[in-house]
Amino acid sequence: MEENKDGIISFGKDGWKTPDNPTIPFTYGDGIGPEITAAAKSIIDASVEKAYGGKKKINWLEVAAGEEAQKKYGTGLPDDTLETIKKYGIIFKGPLTTPVGSGFRSLNVTLRVTMDLYANIRPVKYIEGLDSPLKYPQKVDMIVFRENTDDIYTGIEWPYNSAEAEKVREFLKSSLDITIDPDAGIGIKPIGKAKTQRITRMAIKYAVDNNRKSITVMHKGNIMKYTEGAFKDWAYEVATKEFGDKIITEEELYSKHGGQMPEGKILFNDRIADNMLQQIITKPELYDVILAPNLNGDYVSDACGALIGDIGVLGGANIGDNGAMFEAAHGTAPKYAGKNVANPMGILKAGELMLTFMGWTEAADLISKAVEKAMKERKVTSDIARFMGVDALGTKEFAQYLVDAVKSA
Ligand code: NAP
Repeated sequence: MEENKDGIISFGKDGWKTPDNPTIPFTYGDGIGPEITAAAKSIIDASVEKAYGGKKKINWLEVAAGEEAQKKYGTGLPDDTLETIKKYGIIFKGPLTTPVGSGFRSLNVTLRVTMDLYANIRPVKYIEGLDSPLKYPQKVDMIVFRENTDDIYTGIEWPYNSAEAEKVREFLKSSLDITIDPDAGIGIKPIGKAKTQRITRMAIKYAVDNNRKSITVMHKGNIMKYTEGAFKDWAYEVATKEFGDKIITEEELYSKHGGQMPEGKILFNDRIADNMLQQIITKPELYDVILAPNLNGDYVSDACGALIGDIGVLGGANIGDNGAMFEAAHGTAPKYAGKNVANPMGILKAGELMLTFMGWTEAADLISKAVEKAMKERKVTSDIARFMGVDALGTKEFAQYLVDAVKSA
């Protein structure tokens, strides 16, 4: 890989180009953030060192954000921080307290908007030893690609008794002869072709690069034909026209291959949202990469998370064509702050995902295997130890265990 002197990763639709010494800005976050972020960084560094023997190395660059920044600079998100993240296009982020009061720019929202991080990505894979509500949780290995910028989250809605709702009612009546009850609030659900197709490309590319077996579009297109139904149609259009050599549709599977998956192909299919939500519980082995518009994606991300029994161990990312932000799914858990008890697995899993997107999959695999080993040997922090009935390791001791596991892999 060609070096660039600032270690800037180049993002882009065709995949990331990661120099051997990338600069990755990070922030420790609030509450348990500093402990879990430090733990995760040490394990990530150990896995990179083990995988590449010093040929590749992350240059971590700390940026200020959250409560510390608020105290020091009078803002939770100083301009320098934002500029640095924009320059490098990436941030590894500890959880941040959502501050009360006005005038604060949330790092998540600011970055999502300014860097157009349109895909919310959450891998959910069962880790042996977790207390799952499923009988066969080993079958759970899914990754959700949730569209992040469209759909009802655009926030276009009005209270039933507002002047705006009245105007919309009048317009619909006079122009289209549609009657809306006077006591009904009104919301608009936009789902666009360009936004649908860019996340579809990202999900398919991920599936191809990471040898996944299927991609399922989750939608309620039978009812919302021109929004969720269109999401499905536009996704199929990308799949068949741009990735025809990589995927086969379910229809082709049966019409041309007698139901037998041809070698090296990825199945592209779709499921109606309500069916999908029950099937991920009853037949989790059928689902792999899940592609969903914003609201369905919100539901299915947490539903998938619940399948493995502990959403505290999940990491995720917000990714666009020009950058990415990686973080744990959980928050700052303030009651555990500074006590060396928090579980760093959520942010570590975000780190594993980051390495995967960087193309450093050997290092990512080392993390995954070390975590599996820890769970098998029941070396866990207190949140999990209480279900296993074993003594808990502290955050630091757990991190050291994982570092040693990586080194001796
Ligand atoms: P939370 O921080 O996720 O914590 C809720 C509970 O989850 C904790 O009390 C603890 O459960 C468990 N938990 C979460 N992470 C854990 C870990 N790493 N190790 C062990 N246990 C863990 O949710 P919250 O209390 O609703 O939110 C607290 C703050 O975090 C809020 O200011 C919120 O806005 C913020 N937040 C930030 C982000 C983000 O930065 N992306 C995301 C979510 C929330 P038990 O009590 O059962 O032990």
